[in-house]
Amino acid sequence: MNNTTGAFGGDPMLAPRYMNIPTFMRTPFADDPSDVDIGLIGVPYDNAVTNRPGARHGPREVRNASTMMRTIHHVTRVNPYSLCRVGDLGDVPLPHLFDDQAVVDDIENFYRKVAAAGVTPLTIGGDHSITYPILKALGTKQPLGLVHIDAHTDTWDQFLNTKFSHGAPFRRAVEAGVLDPKRTIQIGIRGAQNADEGWHYAQEMGMRVVFIEELTERGCAEILEETRQIIGDRPAYVTFDIDSLDPAFAPGTGTPEFGGLTPIQAQALVRGLDGLDLVGGDVVEVSPPFDHANITALAGATMAYELLCILASARSSKAE
Ligand code: MN
Ligand code: MN
Repeated sequence: MNNTTGAFGGDPMLAPRYMNIPTFMRTPFADDPSDVDIGLIGVPYDNAVTNRPGARHGPREVRNASTMMRTIHHVTRVNPYSLCRVGDLGDVPLPHLFDDQAVVDDIENFYRKVAAAGVTPLTIGGDHSITYPILKALGTKQPLGLVHIDAHTDTWDQFLNTKFSHGAPFRRAVEAGVLDPKRTIQIGIRGAQNADEGWHYAQEMGMRVVFIEELTERGCAEILEETRQIIGDRPAYVTFDIDSLDPAFAPGTGTPEFGGLTPIQAQALVRGLDGLDLVGGDVVEVSPPFDHANITALAGATMAYELLCILASARSSKAE
């Protein structure tokens, strides 16, 4: 691994956090996936949005904001860096940027290599369309379970003649046979719709759809208990759309929805996934051009750190 975060190598955590070239969490930049157990990966793509753009700038700003992240989790006392080798694998190259089917293929092929190297990927988007090709790469052996935290179910069909909008990834993943809808739970759903076809699809396929009102009424602990029952002990992926948070906490996103999760709820939900067989995760839809004082980038970096801790713990418990 090339340690680009320090001028002459050494521990990047010892340098002042505002110095040097920003990688995710100030981890070493890794050219070769076989050098890491958990790969932090950027996917700077937002051609699939249906409203405000800008998530293509997400990886860079989250890298910057993630310099605030430290090592030891203040609740669980997990130190992901002592459990696993963690490195920044850079951004997924997108040589066919203006051809949405080719972009899906390029992202899938990148993650196939990551998976073949035995790496657990933690991705920063990018709009939510990127999760479909990631699931395609990780769900080849068996359909994955999914913990999906979002204001939207992202199970709509075609939009303006494309199948690959950021409102469609989980419908496409079910069709591709890489996502098990009966082992999928979607948490934080809300917002008026012009058509309820996306919600219907999710429920008809057997996904558990938890609207924000139900979460608030029953509380995170109860929903997490149900999540563990739904996911079971087989492999699952976790995807965190930053628009699940209330726009007061995450204004920098493409499709903000009023009345969302608090940061405390979001952190409790992700921490509560500890013990599941998690094969990867992502944080998507951070749109820096619509952000204020970098609070959305900080939210994205912090939620990525929460995910890193549970992925490291899942991976190390499997190695034992
Ligand atoms: Mn989404
Ligand atoms: Mn969303």
